[in-house]
Amino acid sequence: GKEDISSPRRTKEIIQRYKFSFKKSLGQNFLIDQNVLDQIVDAAELNEGTGVLEIGPGIGSLTERLARVAGAVTAVEIDRRLVPILRDVLSPYPNVKVRIDDVLKVNLQELFTEDFASVDKVSVVANLPYYVTTPILMKLLEEKLPLDNIVVMIQKEVAERMAASPGGKEYGSLSIAVQYYSDPELVCIVPRTAFIPEPNVDSAVIRLKVRERPPVEVADEKHFFEVVHACFTQRRKTIANNLKARYFPEEGRERLEALLAEAEIEPSRRGETLSLEEYARLSTVLLAAGI
Ligand code: SAM
Repeated sequence: GKEDISSPRRTKEIIQRYKFSFKKSLGQNFLIDQNVLDQIVDAAELNEGTGVLEIGPGIGSLTERLARVAGAVTAVEIDRRLVPILRDVLSPYPNVKVRIDDVLKVNLQELFTEDFASVDKVSVVANLPYYVTTPILMKLLEEKLPLDNIVVMIQKEVAERMAASPGGKEYGSLSIAVQYYSDPELVCIVPRTAFIPEPNVDSAVIRLKVRERPPVEVADEKHFFEVVHACFTQRRKTIANNLKARYFPEEGRERLEALLAEAEIEPSRRGETLSLEEYARLSTVLLAAGI
């Protein structure tokens, strides 16, 4: 039999045979580290009854690993030049379907209905293109797809921000958005040498266990996230100053201070110290006051 697609030797051989040239603008860094691939696949807890949506299969390194354990794999790839390669290298795996498309433009609800009708649960597993990590993850989470978990390789700093707790400098609106929809867990840190070509940044694998329902009660999600963003407008400022600038630019501080007292939040605190529960309370109080 052939070596795995992801072995350094076979990867180099495929790239040469098809005269493939990497596009940096598409975030093309292919995985060649067998240990990292094992950790990604293990973290997703796949079996015959699982469907997997892979974003950006590249030359199929991770796709092959997924196809061996999952029931059905759909891989969405933007780069048409990879079609002949994927067709050849993935031919031993009838449970893989490749769709050529920009994942940000795909109707995912439709894709799920078409491709995952026969599986019990679905995971997203990917070595993501770093230039669009956050838009892709926010799309997956906000569309409230019937997902069990998301296991992705992303830039290390972004993974740390997603998993951050209140109080630290990594904690921000991204942490809050991700933690509202999921329970994040850092799986492992990945060195640059795990890829061909090597990226300019360090990477990490993160696992987002998708929540069945949010951990806090929020009346209006759009309003909740607006309040969060307002409190982080200027990180160094207090929430009172940020909220005043956003919602009460013409007023004195009395009404804002009364509302913060009602939400039981000190006006002198900074956005990075508030928990999800406190943001939910703040949004509820402001909304009830017509703000
Ligand atoms: N999965 C392969 C691996 O691990 O070796 C390749 C990962 S590489 C970091 C990212 C892949 O995403 C590339 O194949 C790239 O062409 C693809 N890609 C980039 N932007 C995309 C988009 N908007 N939609 C779908 N795929 C995209």
